[in-house]
Amino acid sequence: MTILVTGGAGFIGGNFVLDWIEATGEPVVTLDKLTYAGNLETLKSLAGDVRHTFVQGDICDRELVDQLLATHQPRAIVHFAAESHVDRSIHGPGEFIRTNVEGTFTLLEAARGYWSSLEGEAKASFRFHHVSTDEVYGSLGPNDAPFTETNTYEPNSPYSASKASSDHLVRAWFHTYGLPVTTSNCSNNYGPYHFPEKLIPLVIANALAGKPLPIYGDGQQIRDWLYVTDHCSAIRTILAKGKPGEVYNVGGWNEKPNLEIVQTICSLLDELKPSAEGKYARLITYVTDRPGHDRRYAIDASKIERELGWRPAETFETGIRKTVQWYLDNQAWVQNVLSGAYRDWVAKNYEDRKAI
Ligand code: NAD
Repeated sequence: MTILVTGGAGFIGGNFVLDWIEATGEPVVTLDKLTYAGNLETLKSLAGDVRHTFVQGDICDRELVDQLLATHQPRAIVHFAAESHVDRSIHGPGEFIRTNVEGTFTLLEAARGYWSSLEGEAKASFRFHHVSTDEVYGSLGPNDAPFTETNTYEPNSPYSASKASSDHLVRAWFHTYGLPVTTSNCSNNYGPYHFPEKLIPLVIANALAGKPLPIYGDGQQIRDWLYVTDHCSAIRTILAKGKPGEVYNVGGWNEKPNLEIVQTICSLLDELKPSAEGKYARLITYVTDRPGHDRRYAIDASKIERELGWRPAETFETGIRKTVQWYLDNQAWVQNVLSGAYRDWVAKNYEDRKAI
């Protein structure tokens, strides 16, 4: 049976499509608008594979979504498509509301119509899985317990507010219409095919280019990190065993300050690709902080571990080593995404961030 994946040309969606086909052999239809963050290079290994169909399109296009559901009759929808970068949401929140809120609404309505038309086992086993973030819970103090699924929603950025809205819509479509939905709220992902505007790939790309490694504020913002294929296996587990209407927090129990992440990458690069100019840490540059920057996120993943038996396969140490090695081995992929549009964005985002 086929599944429909939205945002499958992005970082996590792309890893998920590759992982799903390898793990299950089941066909995937990928719907992706190919914004700046979507990259078909990520799915290149599936070219000519009859198990994969790529459709370029917008999740806000109801007619297209209806047509895809009617044609491919998927047994599940896995919804990754989103505007996902906090800094971009500060510069231009409109697109975040459109894709993350209106797009999720459009998908839910299309899914509801399709699901209502199903019968018997096909109807009972259908799932709509919504991929969301721990950022909806807001920011933790240094001594607060990690977020559980019952924490109140306190989003602080336009990005997290738009994801929080989409989570509420998904919840309401279960309670009001009975649509069999599941939601996962996951911590920061890292790994292959990550667009180099986010911390880890940006630091690797800049270090290799001999450019400054920007640290926002004091660099003591804490994030919980999960290797991307562990997120993929969590979603596979939820699709197989999760209960409709339930929310699952997904994380790697890896709380790290941003500065430590950058220092770890520098040390790995010193070992794997020493620079003639000296240690990579010389490039660390403190810059003005992001407005409203949350201090700490931490995920309590005990519910998915206890109820569904999921565990991450990677520790932070194994995952970050694999990631740095992947970027060293895949410079062609990196160069491909470093288009003019990307360079313009980096210039715009960092021009008002003075060194401090
Ligand atoms: P990404 O920005 O790398 O990819 C998003 C993809 O969605 C891109 O391929 C883009 O082309 C596509 N897209 C954007 N707007 C679209 C639209 N209107 N119609 C169709 N496709 C559209 O994002 P990511 O980091 O892979 O995140 C995927 C999902 O996981 C998002 O929902 C995000 O909120 C969530 N998430 C991300 C992280 C993380 O650390 N990156 C952590 C937790 C949750």
